[in-house]
Amino acid sequence: MAKLIDGKAVSARIKEEVRQETAAFMEKYGIQPSLAVVIVGNDPASRVYVNNKKKACELMGFKSIEYALPEDTTQEELIALVKKMNVDPAINGILVQLPVPKHINDMAIIKSINPKKDVDAFHPENVGRIMVGEYKFLPCTPAGAIELLDSTGVDVAGKNCVVIGRSNIVGKPMAMLLLHRNGTVTICHSRTKDLTAITREADILVAAVGKPNFVTGDMVKEGAVVIDVGINRLENGKLCGDVNFAEVEPKASFITPVPGGVGPMTIAMLMRNTLTAAKIQNGIKD
Ligand code: NAD
Repeated sequence: MAKLIDGKAVSARIKEEVRQETAAFMEKYGIQPSLAVVIVGNDPASRVYVNNKKKACELMGFKSIEYALPEDTTQEELIALVKKMNVDPAINGILVQLPVPKHINDMAIIKSINPKKDVDAFHPENVGRIMVGEYKFLPCTPAGAIELLDSTGVDVAGKNCVVIGRSNIVGKPMAMLLLHRNGTVTICHSRTKDLTAITREADILVAAVGKPNFVTGDMVKEGAVVIDVGINRLENGKLCGDVNFAEVEPKASFITPVPGGVGPMTIAMLMRNTLTAAKIQNGIKD
């Protein structure tokens, strides 16, 4: 039987650390970190995420700024707002909630964000920095997954790590972070042949596919650490991961549940990145 990796507890610990560091930072420098979140349109899931981010900011002691723009906002209008925030000293972190409506090119928006304020770490400059290991920010979800892995005490060095999924937001950076920890990393994707043969070799298996219950018991090696990044909403309204928990849990040594695994980590890492952004912009190194 696997040990459950408690994302809620790890997330609460990190948020408490950030809250305390923020209080000390504000006391010492008289600067309140701030995060601006932009939401375009009326996507209900995005609205929930933005509300959660605002709430977390308030708990940290950050200033939280929201721009709620109508669905028909043009790409030019959105970029103009981002450019204004890029040079506004009262804004430390900028986050444009994805997905944006289809008529807006998300990469154009990401590229318009000042890399020093890019708390999602999606800007090509920040992605490149991660490649060469000289980064200030890590993308929140993979960074959160790595924190969960660390919480198990399992050493990644030399382990066979398999990441299913190659998105810019999760799969690719996750693979890079495992490589930084000296894992032997394989990235699998929709064109991978004989996926099961590869996943069965994994000491550490990360699922970021976006398909409910995709990873079944036969795909997992006895004793593997299984990190489930997937968040899928089933027809009955319940949340479910990419891993078939009932089948995989008896074989794994450690496993993240959904909900309560990687999900709560993303916001905690966003809070940490926002505090880092405030320090960078004010030339503070500690
Ligand atoms: P995505 O759709 O961009 O990428 C999915 C990846 O899965 C692709 O690279 C694709 O090649 C791969 N894939 C699809 N079918 C496959 C198959 N049959 N075999 C092997 N690989 C296959 O998704 P994403 O943005 O990377 O998100 C992945 C999951 O993580 C989703 O469930 C998403 O909701 C979740 N997610 C969670 C958080 C969080 O906060 N915990 C954040 C972002 C994404």
